[in-house]
Amino acid sequence: MNIVKKQRDFFQTQKTKEISFRKASLKRLMQEIINREDAICDALYADFKKPKFETLAAETQFVLAELKHAIKNCTSWARPQRISPSLMNWPSADYIYKEPYGTVLIIAPWNYPFQLAIAPLVGAIVSGNTAVIKPSEVTPNTAKIISEIIKSVFEPNYVSVVEGGIEVSQKLLAEKWDYIFFTGSTRVGQIVYESASKHLTPVTLELGGKNPCIVDQTATIATAAKRIVWGKFLNAGQTCIATDYILVHKSVKDVLIEALKKSIINFFGENVEQSSDYARIVDEKHYTGLKSMLLGEDVLFGGDTNDTDNFISPTLVNEPSLDGKLMEGEIFGPILPIISYEDEIDIKRHIMNYGKPLATYVFSNRKSFQRKIIETYSFGGGAVNDTVIQITNKRLPFGGVGNSGVGAYHGKASFDLFSHHKSIIKKANWPDIPLRYPPYTLPIKYVKKIKSLF
Ligand code: NAD
Repeated sequence: MNIVKKQRDFFQTQKTKEISFRKASLKRLMQEIINREDAICDALYADFKKPKFETLAAETQFVLAELKHAIKNCTSWARPQRISPSLMNWPSADYIYKEPYGTVLIIAPWNYPFQLAIAPLVGAIVSGNTAVIKPSEVTPNTAKIISEIIKSVFEPNYVSVVEGGIEVSQKLLAEKWDYIFFTGSTRVGQIVYESASKHLTPVTLELGGKNPCIVDQTATIATAAKRIVWGKFLNAGQTCIATDYILVHKSVKDVLIEALKKSIINFFGENVEQSSDYARIVDEKHYTGLKSMLLGEDVLFGGDTNDTDNFISPTLVNEPSLDGKLMEGEIFGPILPIISYEDEIDIKRHIMNYGKPLATYVFSNRKSFQRKIIETYSFGGGAVNDTVIQITNKRLPFGGVGNSGVGAYHGKASFDLFSHHKSIIKKANWPDIPLRYPPYTLPIKYVKKIKSLF
C-alpha cells in the first residue's frame, strides 16, 4: 500500500523524533478535538444513540486527558534514562534510549469508537511514530469524523485514516508494519497475531473476556447494586470491562436482586426506552445475537426489545443455563446473569470455566477475601467495591492477560508500549583491563566468582 511506503519515508526523515514536533502535533490534535467535541457527540449519537454525557466522559474528555498528560510529560519520558552501571564495565555510563518503532497500524472496534482509535494514537505520536488508523466500519459516522479530524490536523505521510471493513483490515494486515495495536474480539485478535508473526511485528492486543463480579455476604449491597448497574448498562452493556456475570453468595442473592432492580429503575425510569441516558445495540447483527441469548432463560427483570432501533432493556437473568448461549462466551450487551454460590470452590469452578478475563470485580467488606480474589485469579485488571473505574486513572496501565490480550497502555504505559527500549553502555577508552581478552589468564576459581560484577 502506498500509504505505508509514504509513512516509512517520512519516518526516515527523523522529523517525528523531534520533541517539539511531537508536542506541536499533540497540541493541534487536542485543539481540533476541543473544537469538534459537539460534532463527535452527534456522530456517536447517530451511530447508536450514545448519550452525550457518556461520549463526553468516556470518549472525548478521556482522550483529552491522555493528550494533556502526554504533552506535559513528553520531554521527560523521551529523555534517555540513566541506569546504574555494573562493576564489570567500570568506568561506564549506562542508559536506556527510547526509540520509536516507526510506522504503526491501529485497528479500532466500534464500542468506544472514538476513544479506542485516538487514545492509542496519542501513544504512537508521543513516542515518535507515524500511524495509520483503521476505525470500525460498524460505526460509520464516528469513522467519518475521525477521518475528517485526522485529515485536518496531519499530513497523510505522518498520520492517516483508512476507512473500510474486514477486507480493508486484511489488506492493511498483509503489509509490513513496525507495530500493530489492535482492539477488538479475541477471535480477530488471533488473526491479527498470525498476520503480525509473518513479519515478526510486535503487537498489542486489547481483547475482551467474560468478566465475573463477585458479591459476598459482607458486601454493602445497596452501593454494590448501584455500581454494578452503572458499569453494566453504561453504553448499553457494550463495554469490554463491564461485568459479564454476577457470582453472589446465596445468603444475599435476593437482597441483591431487589437492589439491582431498584437501581435500574432509579437510573433509567420505569420505561427505559424513553430514557435519553441509555444507548442502543450497535447493529442488527449484534441485536439479534443478544436476543437469541435470552431464549429459554429465566428473565427476572427487563427483557424488553424493539426491533426498530435495536433496543434491549437492562435485563437480569436468574441462574442461567451454564451450557447455554448466554454463558458460552462474552455477552457484550445489557444482559446480566446472576449465579449464586455457596463457597469458594463454587467461585473457582465458575471462573475457571473461561479464559483469563479482562476484568474482575469483588464486592466485599472482608479484606482477606478481596485479597484472595485478586491474588488467586489471573485477569487484566479490576476493582474492589466498584466496577469499570480502573480505566479512569491514567497512571494505571490498562490491558488484558492470556485470552483478554497482550500488552497494556494509557499514560506513560502508552509511551513505553510504542517505544523500543534500547540499552546502551558508553565506555571510556581508559582503563582497558586486559583480563577479559584471550589468552585467558585469570584462574578459573576467580572466574567462578565474577557473578557479583554484572
Ligand atoms: P472485532 O474484532 O469484530 O473488530 C475489531 C476490528 O477488527 C474492526 O476494525 C474490524 O473491521 C476488524 N476486523 C473484523 N474482522 C476482521 C478480520 N477477519 N480480519 C481483519 N480485521 C477484522 O471487534 P468489535 O466487534 O469491533 O469489538 C468488540 C470486541 O472488542 C469485544 O470482544 C470487546 O470485548 C473487545 N474490546 C476490547 C477492548 C479492550 O480495551 N481490551 C475495548 C473495546 C472492545
